[in-house]
Amino acid sequence: MLRFENVDLHYGSFRALEGITLHADAGELVVLLGANGAGKTSIFMAASGIHKPSRGSIRFGDRELVGMRTAEIVQSGVVHCPEGRKLFPLMSVRKNLELGAYVHRSDKAGIARSIDEVFSLFPILEKKRDDPAGSLSGGQQQMVAIGRAMLGRPKVLLLDEPSLGLAPLVVKQVFEVIQRIHRAGTTVLLAEQNAYSALAIADRAYVIERGRITLEGDRESLLNNEAVRAAYIGA
Ligand code: ATP
Repeated sequence: MLRFENVDLHYGSFRALEGITLHADAGELVVLLGANGAGKTSIFMAASGIHKPSRGSIRFGDRELVGMRTAEIVQSGVVHCPEGRKLFPLMSVRKNLELGAYVHRSDKAGIARSIDEVFSLFPILEKKRDDPAGSLSGGQQQMVAIGRAMLGRPKVLLLDEPSLGLAPLVVKQVFEVIQRIHRAGTTVLLAEQNAYSALAIADRAYVIERGRITLEGDRESLLNNEAVRAAYIGA
């Protein structure tokens, strides 16, 4: 469904990605593991058209994403939920959610339906719908960020570090919601440093180190891999 072939990405002369080849098939939940600065965010930036690869191809179904504008990429079904949430803190929760539906803005009934779906996924957001997003807790803000991405109607959801900075109980809730979104049929590509929780819900995973894929495998093989356990799980 989403397929990277030999993707390089540069920031000036610095090569952040080198020869990235990976895929997520329809209905899969695929995890990207890697330390800070390994290149996980750059993979998402390339897929969502924010930074253009210097080499390689990123295909979604039969469409080439490299060279497409971000809005077209969202419209085709690849939606990015960025690291750090990037909400508008003074805008209400509802307004922040609606921004995710920018590319579907003429479909008012569809937007209302999607917002109801987000509220059923995150009941607390319905209670806080008119509050400024910046007044919510970190976990609730992450829920708004995921909800906003859902308003883009993803076929593939790119989730960048959704558990970053959250308390363990909230992390658990966020992973439960990711699992629900995945079970409802959305393909998920999830970048995480919280390796154990991410692998626990993954079908497959890739390990990224200094811009390259150094290991790939299914959940069991990576959970049982000594190097992965030592570097990312700490057991
Ligand atoms: P993190 O979890 O810290 O975001 P990451 O695995 O997502 O890490 P990237 O953000 O993709 O890693 O960064 C990969 C490398 O590219 C790092 O060395 C980073 O410093 C560099 N980098 C990222 N964005 C830029 C940019 N806009 N300009 C220059 N260098 C960048």
